[in-house]
Amino acid sequence: MAMGLDEVRLPGFAGRTAIVTGGARGIGAVIARALLNQGANVGVLDLLSPEESALPRDRGLAVSCDVTDASSVDAAFSAVEDRFGAVTILVNNAGILLTSSVESTTLEDWEKSLAVNLTGPFLCVRRALPAMRREGYGRIMSIGSSAGKTGGSREMGAYAASKAGLMAFARSVASEYASEGITSNALAPTLIETDMIAGLADLAERIPVGRLGQPEDVAFAVLTLTSETAGYITGEVTDVNGGFLID
Ligand code: NDP
Repeated sequence: MAMGLDEVRLPGFAGRTAIVTGGARGIGAVIARALLNQGANVGVLDLLSPEESALPRDRGLAVSCDVTDASSVDAAFSAVEDRFGAVTILVNNAGILLTSSVESTTLEDWEKSLAVNLTGPFLCVRRALPAMRREGYGRIMSIGSSAGKTGGSREMGAYAASKAGLMAFARSVASEYASEGITSNALAPTLIETDMIAGLADLAERIPVGRLGQPEDVAFAVLTLTSETAGYITGEVTDVNGGFLID
C-alpha cells in the first residue's frame, strides 16, 4: 500500500465489522483493504459480482448490492451480519459522476445521481443504525465531494447537488445520534486518481500540493475518523484536496 498507510495502527478496528459500499474498485477498494489491514472484518457491497472479489476469505465478504434498492441493502447487511456479527463501521463510498450541462441533463440522470449518491447512503445508514444503537457504538463515514461545496469545476449539477445533500445528511445523523456512541462524518475529496476522473485529470495543475490525490489519501482520512479514538469528532466535513479548496 502506498505512502505508509499499511504502517498506520489505530484502535477500534480489530474484531469489529465494517461495510464499505462501492468497495470493489477505486477509492472503496483501498478503504476496504485499509480496514482489513487494521484487523476489521469487512463486507464490500457493490454492483460487481462477488466472484470478482479479491478479498481474503477469512475476514472479507463481497456481496452483490445495489445501494439504491432498500431490499438489496437489507439482504446485503444481513449477509455480512450473519458472517461477522453487528456492523458498527459504515463507509458510504458508492457513487457515480454523470457530467452534463444543466440543460442537457435528463430527468433520468438527475434521479440516478440522487439515487446512488444520496438515497443509497440514507438506506445504508437507516439499516445500520439499529445494530449500532444496540452496541452503543458506531462510526459512519460518507464520501462527499468538494463539488458539494463549490458546485464543481465542470458541468456536474446533479453530482454537486447529491454530494451537498449527502454532507448535510451526515451532519444531521451526527446530531441525532451523538448521545449513543455513534459518530457521523463526511469527507470532501477533490481529484482522486481513479476511473471516475478520467476526463478531469488536466485539473491537476490547479492543486497546490502539485499532484492528484490517491485513494490512499482518502483511506487515511477514513481510518483516522472511524477509529475508536475519534469519538469526539462528529458532524465534521473534512477536505481531502491537496489545498484545492481552503474554506
Ligand atoms: P469509481 O467509479 O472508481 O468507483 C465507484 C464504485 O461504486 C464502483 O465500484 C461502482 O460499481 C460502485 N457503485 C456505483 N453505483 C453503485 C450502486 N448503485 N450500488 C453499489 N455500488 C455502486 O469511483 P471512485 O472510487 O473515484 O469514487 C468513490 C467515491 O468517492 C464516490 O462516492 C465519489 O463520488 C467520491 N469522490 C471521488 C472523487 C474522485 O476524484 N475520484 C472526488 C470526490 C469524491 P461498478 O464498478 O459496478 O460501477
